[in-house]
Amino acid sequence: MSRRQDALAARLRRVESRNVTYLADDFPIFWDCARGVRIRDVDGARYVDLTAAFGVASTGHANPRVVAAAAAQARRLAHGMGDVHPTPVRVALLERLAEIAPRGLDKTFLATTGSEAVEAALKTAVLATGRTRFAAYRGAYHGLSLGTLGVGGIERFRRPFAAALGPEALLLDFPDASSVDVGEAAQRARDALGARRDIAALLIEPIQGRAGCVVPPAGYLAAVRAICSELGILMIADEIYTGFGRTGAWFAVDREGVVPDLLCLGKALGGGFPISATIGGSQVMDAWPLSTGEALHTSTYLGNPVGCAAALAVINEMARRRLPERAARLGLALGPRLELLRRHPTVLAVRGCGLLWGVQLRDAAVANSVVKRALAGGIILLQSGTNGDVVVISPPLVIGKRRLLHAIDVLEVAIAGAA
Ligand code: PMP
Repeated sequence: MSRRQDALAARLRRVESRNVTYLADDFPIFWDCARGVRIRDVDGARYVDLTAAFGVASTGHANPRVVAAAAAQARRLAHGMGDVHPTPVRVALLERLAEIAPRGLDKTFLATTGSEAVEAALKTAVLATGRTRFAAYRGAYHGLSLGTLGVGGIERFRRPFAAALGPEALLLDFPDASSVDVGEAAQRARDALGARRDIAALLIEPIQGRAGCVVPPAGYLAAVRAICSELGILMIADEIYTGFGRTGAWFAVDREGVVPDLLCLGKALGGGFPISATIGGSQVMDAWPLSTGEALHTSTYLGNPVGCAAALAVINEMARRRLPERAARLGLALGPRLELLRRHPTVLAVRGCGLLWGVQLRDAAVANSVVKRALAGGIILLQSGTNGDVVVISPPLVIGKRRLLHAIDVLEVAIAGAA
């Protein structure tokens, strides 16, 4: 780090909760500004962002149309009144979400973070089924609030708080397409869920993100849909990461023609402005009592007008530029290129689709070294995986093919060097 960044790190260390930012001699960089797929740090050094900042900047950092829509809304009305006095921009966003969501999902809760969207889905499932327990997957990441930790499948996040959480969720094994076939995986899920009568909902990430981009076998989502329907369990698809074109379709469930009972959205929805959504069909969502003046579930920033304006602009930009199709197309070029990385003995697996890929390395130390070397080469990557042994590639969907493939060349040099 430069002297300037060292000084910022020293100041940060004094005033930020020590749990938040990992500070080392050569990591992180302090971001100053960003546009499209490019990041500039406070020293003026430029980087290509292969993370879309946790999958948020799918339409590109500071997308001009998204920024203009948000700025115009901020000037007009930056904050509304959650569940009391609504705004036209919220109505417009809710209508647009109903248009793009899988068929029949047409009623929405808005919130601010992904965790809140998941918690709203869990509460909906309790009301709609009268049951009070949940099923989820090992390796699952649905947020770190107390409510979502209860359905989290990454032990490290849960352990310190386990005693403060509610009853344990039923955790299923998430099937990795490379090691299990769909019939066997579905049978295991059926057996585990069928043995219980108290499960309100099964939460599933169509591709596990934080676990290191784990892709289930083709047909698994459809099998899970059938099992949930048979057992009266609601299927909650957490598409906070996979949604909005990331996997090459508007939503990853669309790739199998699956309609979940509840769909959780966040991240790319706001293009950088914090907004999230839980969408369901009327038959499920109408389990909520009609508001007669005091909402049973709401929050201060519900339907924040700036977030709504940004989200509308994101959706329009996705449609205008056909970004889901673009992600699918780029994925067809990226997959084979990433496969070539397997010639390096430290690369154990490559998996993904669209513009969401994970490269599994020998261990977390190698993955960490790869991320730092790539950073020195001007490429921003995210270390991920339940054991920290995966490097995830999830660039803005607007990235150019040449730039993307060049960034993978830099990644390959980093992998060779880290070995
Ligand atoms: N679900 C998934 C699949 C996620 O990837 C994340 C965030 N990484 C969340 C939920 C939680 O979202 P947030 O951090 O906005 O609460």
